[in-house]
Amino acid sequence: MKTADAVVIGGGIMGASAAHFLARKGFGRVVLIERGRLAGVSTGHSAAIVRTYYSNPITLELAKRALHMFEHDRALLGGDCGFRPIGFLLLIGERLRATGEHILESERRHGLHVEDLSPEDIGEFAPQLSLDGVARGILEPRSGYADPTRTVENLVAAARPWGLEPRAGVAATGVRLRGDRVVAVESEQGMIETNVAVNAAGPWAGRVGSWLGLGYSLRWSRESDLFVEPPAGFGDLPVVSDPGLRFYLRPCGEDRIIVGLGAPKDIEPVDPDDCDSGLDPGTRERIERPLFERIPALANARHLGGYASIYTITDDWHPIVGPEPGIEGYYAFFGGSGHGFKLGPPIGEALADVICGETPAIDLSPFRPGRFIDGEPLTSAWGEGNRG
Ligand SMILES: Cc1cc2nc3c(=O)[nH]c(=O)nc-3n(C[C@H](O)[C@H](O)[C@H](O)COP(=O)(O)OP(=O)(O)OC[C@H]3O[C@@H](n4cnc5c(N)ncnc54)[C@H](O)[C@@H]3O)c2cc1C
Repeated sequence: MKTADAVVIGGGIMGASAAHFLARKGFGRVVLIERGRLAGVSTGHSAAIVRTYYSNPITLELAKRALHMFEHDRALLGGDCGFRPIGFLLLIGERLRATGEHILESERRHGLHVEDLSPEDIGEFAPQLSLDGVARGILEPRSGYADPTRTVENLVAAARPWGLEPRAGVAATGVRLRGDRVVAVESEQGMIETNVAVNAAGPWAGRVGSWLGLGYSLRWSRESDLFVEPPAGFGDLPVVSDPGLRFYLRPCGEDRIIVGLGAPKDIEPVDPDDCDSGLDPGTRERIERPLFERIPALANARHLGGYASIYTITDDWHPIVGPEPGIEGYYAFFGGSGHGFKLGPPIGEALADVICGETPAIDLSPFRPGRFIDGEPLTSAWGEGNRG
């Protein structure tokens, strides 16, 4: 194919979402170009937790929309995305009590049902947890986790009849301008004429931007998860986030639990072109230490291996999304910063509106690429890290 109405570069959750919603709006031929396989990098390794405890209004609104989308995935995301609404439990210690209150009130103000749990309530709800240092819990009963690869596959497959054309195994190699207007995307298999190019290249978004002379401040952190098999009779757990001990976990099907390090945490710098996908023994130990402290019954659980992938982190830990002034037809959509899975679909939906010249229901301008130069980075009640 030599022409397209839009070319989206990158087949992770962000690119798949942008392409899906553009095609769904009737934008025409939308080529989704992915140099490896769909969801093959950060998205496919995501813990894919879908929760709403965010402290700034735009992220909270987007997360709320995301939850609604996953709850209605067949209608809104193209198919069953493996969403399991098993509840999300945030454990709050004394140090974060004020932050917890802020989050709870913000969620309620945005119309979300959240429950404020005492340690006794938590003990009844999740008796496997040792509650040392826990002052309260915030429970989001509707939240849970999804299957990230299936989500991307659904978004792509469902939009094919509307004009989405996936090209996996083909790298984009350039974006061509005439004057200040996008006129083509170059690829290993030739040039595609188009007036719209979306940069959803995840860890390589900076490289794609550099083709247009754009410089983005991005950092990359190696992020690891491990699997354990809980002992017989262990019982069910919701998704758990423990900022005090700095880890999170979620069930993975019936017989496994995924565990990772939670924020605030140090960035583990990594070169996206040279990221070893194995779980190293030191990281395994750093994940297991807080896990076993909080859930002693897992200390003898069978270790089932793990993996490492990449966070692409912006200067304020929020995605960079939207047009670049001075380059007509180019749109940024990257920098998930550790929480971009759930935000991908609602941002993709809103970005499709922007590309079509419409006003989206959720204003994306706080995510604009120029916010750092404007001195308007996003802030979070947590103060740092990827909780938004
Ligand atoms: C271990 C881990 C756990 C996480 N847990 C959560 C979570 O619980 N909840 C949550 O919301 N988020 C989570 N995240 C974050 C979330 O997964 C990411 O923010 C999100 O997946 C990023 O999606 P993306 O589409 O921007 O990037 P990616 O998924 O990396 O996709 C970018 C794609 O672009 C392609 N590409 C790059 N250059 C080119 C080119 N030149 N031509 C063609 N294709 C190109 C790449 O091959 C890649 O497939 C987690 C991330 C990790 C690593």
